[in-house]
Amino acid sequence: MDFQFSEEQQMIEDHAREFAQRVIAPGAAHRDETSTFDRQLLSQLAENGFLGMLVPEAYGGSAMGYTNYVLVNRQLATACASTAVITGVCNLTASAIDEFGSEELKTEILPEICSAKGQHAAAFCLSEPHCGSDAAALKATARREGDEYILNGTKQWITNGAMSGWYLVMARTAEGASGISAFMVPKGTPGLVIGKKEDKMGQRGSDTVQVILENCRVPSRFRVGDEGIGFRMAMTALDGGRIGIGALSLGVGTAALNEALVYLNEREAFGKPLSRLQALQNMVADMATELEAAWLLTLRAALMKDAGKSVTKEASMAKVFASEACAKAVDLSLQIHGGYGYVKEYPIERLYRDARITRIYEGTSEIQRVVIAREVLNR
Ligand SMILES: Cc1cc2nc3c(=O)[nH]c(=O)nc-3n(C[C@H](O)[C@H](O)[C@H](O)COP(=O)(O)OP(=O)(O)OC[C@H]3O[C@@H](n4cnc5c(N)ncnc54)[C@H](O)[C@@H]3O)c2cc1C
Repeated sequence: MDFQFSEEQQMIEDHAREFAQRVIAPGAAHRDETSTFDRQLLSQLAENGFLGMLVPEAYGGSAMGYTNYVLVNRQLATACASTAVITGVCNLTASAIDEFGSEELKTEILPEICSAKGQHAAAFCLSEPHCGSDAAALKATARREGDEYILNGTKQWITNGAMSGWYLVMARTAEGASGISAFMVPKGTPGLVIGKKEDKMGQRGSDTVQVILENCRVPSRFRVGDEGIGFRMAMTALDGGRIGIGALSLGVGTAALNEALVYLNEREAFGKPLSRLQALQNMVADMATELEAAWLLTLRAALMKDAGKSVTKEASMAKVFASEACAKAVDLSLQIHGGYGYVKEYPIERLYRDARITRIYEGTSEIQRVVIAREVLNR
């Protein structure tokens, strides 16, 4: 048992922090305000190896593994949650292809995702308008015709949907959860229609769109793994993804704590800095303690994943605890800012909005608790 990072891990985190603060942080407010993302940033993320952190070098990845992934993603999110979620979904998609795809598919597609070829990201298309938590109820279909599949259906809430080169689409080849298969659909395929962009509360620099499949034909070699493994593949990928959202939540929570610390020393009340008021010190203590506990849960899940262990329970624990610690941190930090926390002049207003979705996407807090309880009850 050792709580020390290796020299290499420390270097990776330091590099990610420096990159995030120098390159990403300055544009975060603008991305939020304009609901846009500078795609040049995607290339820079790729150049740093941040889009293929879970992919072997043989397929263009940086093979950093989950522990380094959480170190990096926390730093990216401290600077800009939108950038961190864009990065997270690229890694989520790439990790699924790496684990379940054929050699041919991995060789063809992974280098493009890891390098953000054409300044494109990757998208993970599971949710539909009528189902998110109950993903096994999805209705999109994939009908085989000769050496092709014809995809039909609508995917909802697709992160990176407007700027991806590859879409990982879960669609039904038969009834039931074991009738769900997975397909890679390249941008520009006839019948792949990018629908309306959502006008979101937070993480506005990351696009979220509907993806509509209208008689969209893909060659059968773009199927990921065998027919029927799509649901298992999605759930396995989400185990890893949830660790990433834990790290993202920690980044936003840490940024909120940092903003509180600055303000506490800047602002005075009753003739002394706010930092001298015990009621506010208690808030700082709560934020710092809960973020630290969340970090340990997230790191443990990442370490276990790197060791090849099953992390279904641990990933859900990390995600639910970190996203809720983040929610509390942004709330307390806003409270410390008083009225100034409620206006756009201070970054905490954006952090408060950015935090909210972490309790919803990649499985709501309620679903994480369902997963944890199932694992604990069945052990
Ligand atoms: C900004 C954003 C980005 C997203 N990105 C993606 C993406 O890239 N790809 C993708 O596939 N999806 C994505 N999603 C979808 C996201 O994962 C779903 O919104 C989420 O899983 C919840 O599904 P839902 O919205 O259909 O809510 P529902 O499943 O309808 O849930 C509604 C409420 O019921 C609760 N509930 C449901 N079932 C249970 C249960 N069994 N026990 C207790 N409570 C329950 C939920 O917790 C929630 O409070 C994104 C969503 C958003 C908003």
